Amino acid sequence: MSASRRTSAPAETERLGEALAPHLSLGDVLVLTGPLGAGKTCFVKGLARGLDVRGRVRSPSFTLVNEYAGRVPLWHLDLYRLERADDTLGLEEAVERAVVVVEWGEKLPARWRAEALELLFEREPGDVRRIAASATSGRGLALLAAWRSLTVAPSPEPTS
Ligand code: ADP
Ligand code: MG
Repeated sequence: MSASRRTSAPAETERLGEALAPHLSLGDVLVLTGPLGAGKTCFVKGLARGLDVRGRVRSPSFTLVNEYAGRVPLWHLDLYRLERADDTLGLEEAVERAVVVVEWGEKLPARWRAEALELLFEREPGDVRRIAASATSGRGLALLAAWRSLTVAPSPEPTS
């Protein structure tokens, strides 16, 4: 089961993340995939806003993980620099206390992806991004249903 959406500006991708946030609860895992510059971190910024995180979200591509306090804590991981993720990352503990969002999440061991909502980000011409959601079981399916129901105002057309 999958469902895709398109956004036409960074602010719109953020709003999509913000709109998904109220549906998230402790232990949920979001797996974000797609190339550099596709909008994964942008989406997480909106997600954080929707979880009432104060302060700025920075890409954890160097730090590997950033944790933010919000309505629920947000654990933001970026596996770009890793060959593959192993069990030393602290995921086991993180899912007990946070919502976990993972850029380059395809590198996660399969057991972490089983109940995840997967979002595949693709660049299209201009500022268009296609974001395709999929899930296979458990919370992932519940979040996929939520994803389908999101309403996000489109960004105004550029005037130039
Ligand atoms: P990633 O984390 O996938 O590498 P980022 O979110 O860091 O990507 O960067 C996305 C880049 O693409 C930003 O420079 C952003 O301004 C730009 N961009 C252009 N259009 C969009 C869009 N529709 N959604 C998200 N980002 C967009
Ligand atoms: Mg990123």
